[in-house]
Amino acid sequence: MKIADIRATTVTVPLEAPLLHSNGAHWGRFVRTLVEVETDNGLVGLGELGGGGESAEAAVRALADYLVGHDPFRLEALRFAIANPTASLYNNRTQLLAAVEFACLDVIGQQLGVPVHDLLGGRLRDEVPFASYLFFRYANASTGEGEVRTPEQLVDHTRELKAAHGFTVHKLKGGVYPPDYEAACYRALAEAFPGDRFRFDPNAALSVAQARRFTQLVADLPNEYLEDLTWGMNGLRQLRDLGVPIATNTVVVNFEQLAANVRDPAVDVVLLDTTFWGGIRPCIKAAGVCETFQLGVAVHSSGELGVQLATMLHLGAVLPNLTYAADAHYHHLVDDVIVGGKLAYRDGAIPVPTGPGLGVRLDAERVARYAELYREQGGYPYDRDPGRPGWYPLVPNERWADPHV
Ligand SMILES: [Mg+2]
Repeated sequence: MKIADIRATTVTVPLEAPLLHSNGAHWGRFVRTLVEVETDNGLVGLGELGGGGESAEAAVRALADYLVGHDPFRLEALRFAIANPTASLYNNRTQLLAAVEFACLDVIGQQLGVPVHDLLGGRLRDEVPFASYLFFRYANASTGEGEVRTPEQLVDHTRELKAAHGFTVHKLKGGVYPPDYEAACYRALAEAFPGDRFRFDPNAALSVAQARRFTQLVADLPNEYLEDLTWGMNGLRQLRDLGVPIATNTVVVNFEQLAANVRDPAVDVVLLDTTFWGGIRPCIKAAGVCETFQLGVAVHSSGELGVQLATMLHLGAVLPNLTYAADAHYHHLVDDVIVGGKLAYRDGAIPVPTGPGLGVRLDAERVARYAELYREQGGYPYDRDPGRPGWYPLVPNERWADPHV
């Protein structure tokens, strides 16, 4: 079996409402590029990557010269063929490699008639638990609904998500409003849902001093961990004496950084991302290192549609040391591009697909509809806030949004 062709299609899928974060916002939609790797025996494997739109499509298509004729079973060779670590100094293709790895695993599974998790050691669990991923939100521009700004709105929104999907772990994305205001919101959440567990993540927006103060303000709450309160391993290391586990998805995102964190620990929990790390298989390797050195493992969400979600489910199925619920933005989407529409949460978890390969297929009608929406609307600047024209943040930030506006 050989790769015969590689295709890319960018789609825009609406969100319920714009999601705010420390660098700006998701402006009411996700822009994702779907990758299809076709083989000479007629199989099509699926991949997905993030928000570059036309540039992502062009980057994927440019891989055709590297990939056509390659045997999709030869996954280790793939890494060196398109993303070896020294050539990558000049052409960072890690995220492209990830999308191609997903598609090759999908093809292999289809060829053998087995789900991807059976290629990765076999599943240890039949469903993967997820955290509610809570954001401060602007109201939906069409309906005027969905704003999350006040503690009361945050609690109401969480109650709705918990009722709909069964979440018992809650992660609040902060870094938008002043840290003391967000600490009060986080406390309101913890007090509204006794028995549940909580995480807070301001995307590294706080100074070390602010991060220490925030930690002290919330240290009595049932924190699973505080994630990327401040920037960098040297910043996060300065929070370790405060007694709350520290997590990152920003500064331990490759094996060099993982080794550095083992030699001089800065974080307790590493959020693995099937895109950032270059595929599902590198995440499994990284989880093995974490198991050896007794670091915690969680799963990061970079804003997925159903194809990437499937990669997270197969990853979650096979990791013995996944003791934390995974993150997903998925429940903020209004639809998906896969056959059957959005996968459903049940008691805060999503069943691991059991069909051949990734176990999800593209719905041609939905892909066409959302590709058209991308052509109509184009991309959006992830690092800008539609509510604050001209604004951009500093790191550490001091240009907070006003929670009373
Ligand atoms: Mg994070």
